[in-house]
Amino acid sequence: MPLILDRNEVLEMYAFAREKKWVLPTFNTENLTTTEAILSAVSDYGKEIGVNNLPIIVGITNTYKDRPQSVYYSHTRNWEIGMRLFLKDLDVLTSPESPYGNLNVMVHLDHIIWDDDLELLNWDMRQFSSIMYDASTLPFEENIKKTAQFAEKNRDLVLIEGACDEISKADTSGNADDLTTPEMAEAYFSGTGVDIIVPNLGTEHRATASSLKYHGDLARKISAKTGPHLCLHGTSSVSQDELTTLFEDGICKVNLWTALERDSTFALFSDMVKNASKLIGPAKTKEMVGKGLLGMIADSESKPSLDYYTTTYRQDIIFRRMKEIIKQYLSIWYR
Ligand SMILES: [Zn+2]
Repeated sequence: MPLILDRNEVLEMYAFAREKKWVLPTFNTENLTTTEAILSAVSDYGKEIGVNNLPIIVGITNTYKDRPQSVYYSHTRNWEIGMRLFLKDLDVLTSPESPYGNLNVMVHLDHIIWDDDLELLNWDMRQFSSIMYDASTLPFEENIKKTAQFAEKNRDLVLIEGACDEISKADTSGNADDLTTPEMAEAYFSGTGVDIIVPNLGTEHRATASSLKYHGDLARKISAKTGPHLCLHGTSSVSQDELTTLFEDGICKVNLWTALERDSTFALFSDMVKNASKLIGPAKTKEMVGKGLLGMIADSESKPSLDYYTTTYRQDIIFRRMKEIIKQYLSIWYR
């Protein structure tokens, strides 16, 4: 079915998820392979549990410095071209002819920066189901003021997620930012009028491993004040065992991206090493063995083959592994 863009229909989806005790997953993407892996995984998982129209949110950042995903969506490295391609991809993949045409797909703009993304913020917001308006680089009071202005202007057009605090980044200082206090969250939520807030609950963006602690106790204290309107970011930094209580903690939406890319790379790399000669031929394989880059047991006899040296081969491995990762998360949040 077509994308769910109407604000009231989006709110109905959230209410439906809440009734089911589901946490709505948002998987971000920066290429067609990932976009399709998300839809395909949800479609497969739905078939396994006997629901053919599961809701799913597909997200993308714009010029967000930590990961400008619309910029990466095309090799033009132009955000506008990338954003338009992303919307077209989703449009075609959710059309009635598509195998993913039954899904309830919502599209999310993630980390849209209050000053850098002014041009995008002037687009018709009705093309999107939700937007995370990010003014978290400003001092707290100014963040509230800026976000309230945006919410005032766009409240009828799109569901608004607000960034109460900055989420820490794994590859910067090493000093984690302070966690959001329930008092701050309450002041932000009532002061801005956003639908959903993103507090800092101890997770990290772009983590290289899933070894951090998610502070569910804090999420419960915050949601006791604001209601169950929290969104968790930096989810890849936490092990899946830590993510089973999100619904009870008052989290209604969860954002995830890093783990998809991080954890599919091993699958691709292993397969390429194992089949080295089919990818690059005996001569180049032997050269790599000679340089110590591959072991002696690497296949160095096979002829190169179209089944191995194409972009299709590489994307297929990524696609399949991403689907497995996504399905594992879905089994936690769509229980
Ligand atoms: Zn985020």
